[in-house]
Amino acid sequence: MRNVLIVLSGPSGVGKGTIAKLLVERNKDISLSISCTTRKPRDGEINGREYFFIDKSEFKEKINNDGFLEYSEHFENFYGTPKDFVLDKLQNSNVLLEIDVNGGLEVKSRYNDAVLVMITPPSLEEVRNRLIKRGTETEEKINLRMERIGYELDKQGLYDYVVINDVLLDAVKEIEGIIKLEKNKCK
Ligand code: ADP
Ligand code: 5GP
Repeated sequence: MRNVLIVLSGPSGVGKGTIAKLLVERNKDISLSISCTTRKPRDGEINGREYFFIDKSEFKEKINNDGFLEYSEHFENFYGTPKDFVLDKLQNSNVLLEIDVNGGLEVKSRYNDAVLVMITPPSLEEVRNRLIKRGTETEEKINLRMERIGYELDKQGLYDYVVINDVLLDAVKEIEGIIKLEKNKCK
């Protein structure tokens, strides 16, 4: 069975991080990629756990050295998938990337075996509720994230799978099924 590179995308607040955490906790053969970002850590976030927090000049240097599988700018900060880190991990386990839609499509264009999974919300209002409940963003930032939802969801047709995150555990189990299926595909 091959190891698969799984990309989880979807609007901010839809539950990607929560799902990714559960997938890793429940499955010893899945590990989480860690992206680089220039945004500041939120309370409780640790460098090297949620992200590698680097400054803009380090980020640019990594771009120039072809150090990213993909990168993009969101909400005035840069985010990128470190190439060697991910490809090394893939030797030993399935690897989960939690990145935006354009990043996911870019990964697929460079690594065709990647499996793209779009997480969608049961409703737009529910995303706002979840962002409010998470309590990490100001109202202004929540509004910015809400404005981007349509853009992300409009690209779901380009993804391999679409999973609705309504009941959390159902979504997690559905993704586990997708990974099992994809692992057994001969490529
Ligand atoms: P993302 O990583 O997509 O930005 P998070 O994983 O941070 O989203 O989830 C946003 C908020 O929604 C968190 O407070 C999380 O606990 C909550 N959440 C995630 N999935 C569900 C769900 N299925 N039902 C209710 N709340 C959820
Ligand atoms: P947050 O600041 O809420 O952690 O993430 C903001 C957005 O950046 C989310 O949509 C998240 O999926 C995206 N993101 C996180 N890491 C990466 C990455 O490495 N590449 C890309 N393209 N997007 C990322």
